[in-house]
Amino acid sequence: MAKWVYLFKEGKADMKNLLGGKGANLAEMTNLGLPIPQGFTVTTEACTDYYNSGKRITDEIQTQIFDALSELEKIQGKKFGDTQDPLLVSVRSGARASMPGMMDTILNLGLNDVAVEGFAQKTGNPRFAYDSYRRFIQMFSDVVMEMSKTFFEGILDEIKEAKGAKFDTDLTADDLKEVIAKYKAIYQEKMGEEFPQDPKVQLMEAVKAVFRSWDNPRAIVYRRMNDIPGDWGTAVNVQAMVFGNMGNTSGTGVAFTRNPSTGAKGIYGEYLINAQGEDVVAGIRTPLPITRLEEDMPECYKEFMEIANKLENHYRDMQDMEFTIQEGKLYFLQTRSGKRTAPAAIQIACDLVDEGKITEEEAILRLDAKSLDQLLHPTFDPAALKAGEVIGSALPASPGAAAGKVYFTADDAKEAGERGERVILVRLETSPEDIEGMHAAQGILTVRGGMTSHAAVVARGMGTACVSGCGEIKINEEAKVFELGGHKIVEGDYISLDGSTGKIYLGDIKTVEASVGGNFGRIMEWADKFRTLKVRTNADTPADTANAVKLGAEGIGLCRTEHMFFEADRIPKIRKMILSDTVEAREAALNELIPFQKADFKAMYEVLEGKPMTVRYLDPPLHEFVPTDPEDIKALADDMGLTPEQVKAKCDELHEFNPMMGHRGCRLAVTYPEIARMQTRAVIEAAIEVKEEKGYDIVPEIMIPLVGEKKELKFVKDIVVETAEAVKKEKGSDIEYHIGTMIEIPRAALLANEIAEEAEFFSFGTNDLTQMTFGFSRDDAGKFLDSYYKAKIYESDPFARLDQSGVGQLVKMAAEKGRAQRADIKLGICGEHGGDPSSVEFCHKVGLNYVSCSPFRVPIARLAAAQAAIAESRQ
Ligand code: ADP
Ligand code: MG
Ligand code: MG
Repeated sequence: MAKWVYLFKEGKADMKNLLGGKGANLAEMTNLGLPIPQGFTVTTEACTDYYNSGKRITDEIQTQIFDALSELEKIQGKKFGDTQDPLLVSVRSGARASMPGMMDTILNLGLNDVAVEGFAQKTGNPRFAYDSYRRFIQMFSDVVMEMSKTFFEGILDEIKEAKGAKFDTDLTADDLKEVIAKYKAIYQEKMGEEFPQDPKVQLMEAVKAVFRSWDNPRAIVYRRMNDIPGDWGTAVNVQAMVFGNMGNTSGTGVAFTRNPSTGAKGIYGEYLINAQGEDVVAGIRTPLPITRLEEDMPECYKEFMEIANKLENHYRDMQDMEFTIQEGKLYFLQTRSGKRTAPAAIQIACDLVDEGKITEEEAILRLDAKSLDQLLHPTFDPAALKAGEVIGSALPASPGAAAGKVYFTADDAKEAGERGERVILVRLETSPEDIEGMHAAQGILTVRGGMTSHAAVVARGMGTACVSGCGEIKINEEAKVFELGGHKIVEGDYISLDGSTGKIYLGDIKTVEASVGGNFGRIMEWADKFRTLKVRTNADTPADTANAVKLGAEGIGLCRTEHMFFEADRIPKIRKMILSDTVEAREAALNELIPFQKADFKAMYEVLEGKPMTVRYLDPPLHEFVPTDPEDIKALADDMGLTPEQVKAKCDELHEFNPMMGHRGCRLAVTYPEIARMQTRAVIEAAIEVKEEKGYDIVPEIMIPLVGEKKELKFVKDIVVETAEAVKKEKGSDIEYHIGTMIEIPRAALLANEIAEEAEFFSFGTNDLTQMTFGFSRDDAGKFLDSYYKAKIYESDPFARLDQSGVGQLVKMAAEKGRAQRADIKLGICGEHGGDPSSVEFCHKVGLNYVSCSPFRVPIARLAAAQAAIAESRQ
């Protein structure tokens, strides 16, 4: 017979998968001999079984629960359901990974109309007994029966007001009896039955409620955000109650062994006298700092500090502890590794290494790579933030805090930026034409679009704060005004955005710059020591490149050349090229672009100082460049000697039904070889010149995008080689260069061995590869993915987290085929996944040479790569 239930004394810390984090730690603390109210844990497997049995707890499991309850009765010397001296329990959820707020705890379970009288007599404290019962009714109704809290809060407030009581603690026993009567009446009214009086029924209903809570919407969202699989399930802990609400020598509190916001050494926490459970966090009364306990109850404080230190040394990590004092006697109710801010995590990791408690490897493994993002961006000054007024919130699309004046067009934003103003660009949604305005902005706010919308992706790349998809905004871009949260904001008004939380504030809130030295630098040094995967960056400008190099990038894995063409002095020329009818006219237009493109490449090579750069040739569908603004159309028409109508007609011809699968990528170079010729000339000339001027050892890497067939690659490659050789000859240079391709079309992955005959390197373009493999586009997925999460078809966004079972197979297969054909082929990944820790781990496992990600994610990738290497070496 399977074992579904464990007494605390039967478990240990390493049984987290089975007992959940809370249960495993309660067991561990029991075995350490600490003062823990005893109890038992119903396992996570029982939760899975509950779902597999059609949301039913089987008789076998129920029997084991009641057997454990009998054992608990023996340990406590009290009987569950006794009318004189009842054993009361709490019912607490506890998953493997802590999921705060998943389910509320039920306290004082086991009371009923009769037992509460006995309890009052036995404790000699009727006020306390009735208070416990009314709390139980309230929690049970809320958590198990899902009745709205407001009914109960309303009743309590009414009676408090009637009695002139300021706090709950001011109510007398008789007042509380009145509360109970009213609570039971409302329960009967809303539920159509009496409040359950049988403690065993109460218990089984509570256990079921915990199991159910695993699948409530809050929990599902939390799991998706934190990569927690849906099939883990939660355990249930049933624990004997201790009471912090028995008077002035009782209390309850929470404490951390180190400061969770800064990481500073020393105990940090709060407690409340004469209180139970969540009173501390509920903010009803103001808690006291934990250090006050030393004055109020010196004995308790001493014992508390001893145990806190013992726990930190035992777990070798900062602990987050919950405790209760019942009439001067201290109990611990929970301990776990405490959640902490990113700065605190870094501080604590370094301190623990210095204190000799953990190794550098352990320090690396414990850090949450994703959270490093917080460290690299400006944050709000905490004092200034407190005074700020939140007027709305939406998706936290790109982290960082920003404050500035509102502008509604990219041009206005750019001009304001040039005047030296701090800018928040507010748009319905952004498009590639907005690039310059986005660059000029400190923060970007959009009405439409999800976490992977254009605004979000570009903002993350640039490291600019972005809040996206704020549907509550009523915007009038023409009139340059928007309304949100009852406020009207016009051009030039200040607002502030927190791209890490998605909050939007009124006014100009002071921000503080990030610093990347000190402990952060130490952690990065350790990471570099352990990792084998190289980390490059995706960068298109010298400024982004310099930033990425500062953050540790070892080269550029993806330089998107199209971004270089959007600037005001260049876009007319590329437009002319696109709309020209003859090769000669196109070549003439392209020749005007060569100096710009070459200057860009030179500047990049200079910043890179010899580090490698992969240049991707023109990739997007051409219509992204064509003008829509009547003024732009007119200017272009004049320049080309055409009428505006003729220009418009030509633009319309470029319309495609499905541009993502249309005339783009290497198809552009096949139809217009002159584009590839121009780009090759620019790259090779730039490389030769910088090599000669600065003496860097430069080997250009030229990347042909969107290849699906070897002959297609060969066709473009021949053009590149021919041009490169001609340039070399003109310049008398013997520079080497490599030509490779992106693997981003499933067919290319399937035929990677053939493609590797021509390609010297592969870079997995997992954005396109994901969209072509799934058959839905990144820009449209936001419209339906939520339904897929709800229906449990997908658990996460495949554009944010690499789909290892599907897309990952293509990557793995192509890597193997590529290596089989060409042993020294260089393999990398570019695209959003390059900065996602779980995807980085995957890249390490399949043996890629490098990952490439946006500049601000470089440290995340370095840490994640180190974690992958250390984890592997420990297997
Ligand atoms: P969460 O996971 O939300 O922190 P817990 O299960 O830890 O929920 O319970 C919340 C609070 O309820 C605890 O901090 C503690 O104050 C109180 N509590 C839980 N079990 C008991 C108990 N057996 N005796 C006294 N208080 C308890
Ligand atoms: Mg807790
Ligand atoms: Mg692509």
